[in-house]
Amino acid sequence: MSKTSPDKKISSGILLAARAAFKEAYAGVSLSHGGPFGAVVTRSGVIIGRGHNTVLKEEDPTCHAEINAIRKASRYLKSHSLKGCALVTTAEPCPMCLAAAYWAGIRNVYYMAGGSAISAIGFSDEKIYSELKKSAKKRSVRCVRVCGLERETKDLIFRWKQKKGKIY
Ligand SMILES: [Zn+2]
Repeated sequence: MSKTSPDKKISSGILLAARAAFKEAYAGVSLSHGGPFGAVVTRSGVIIGRGHNTVLKEEDPTCHAEINAIRKASRYLKSHSLKGCALVTTAEPCPMCLAAAYWAGIRNVYYMAGGSAISAIGFSDEKIYSELKKSAKKRSVRCVRVCGLERETKDLIFRWKQKKGKIY
């Protein structure tokens, strides 16, 4: 978990986005859609995607506020790339959402509640962050490489290269 000190020079645009993220989080709490989390994606100070945690509503463990906001922003831009956008979220992103920011090309993430405040109410992503620091063999999720299907793997990659698949 990153231990960064709060930045006191946050722009008014980010503060407005932060308020929108809180509004999303409150909506999610009122509707009992999931945890108390909201997020927005901004581009040039304009909100282009917003969302709250809908894990319970959707019965989908990946429906975190950040993921939902990223999906909406991507649909809005009709692009998988959110380069130049910022992610503003009510709580420090979990590893999944942080990784989604990387995949989206988002370079700036702003959050309000730190990971320890979130852990205190039972949403412990600190556990996942510490798991990621361990060697693969010591993690509680076992990842096993399946042997004997090397040809199928090569064929799949060959097929993708043949089609000149786009790298993102
Ligand atoms: Zn998350």
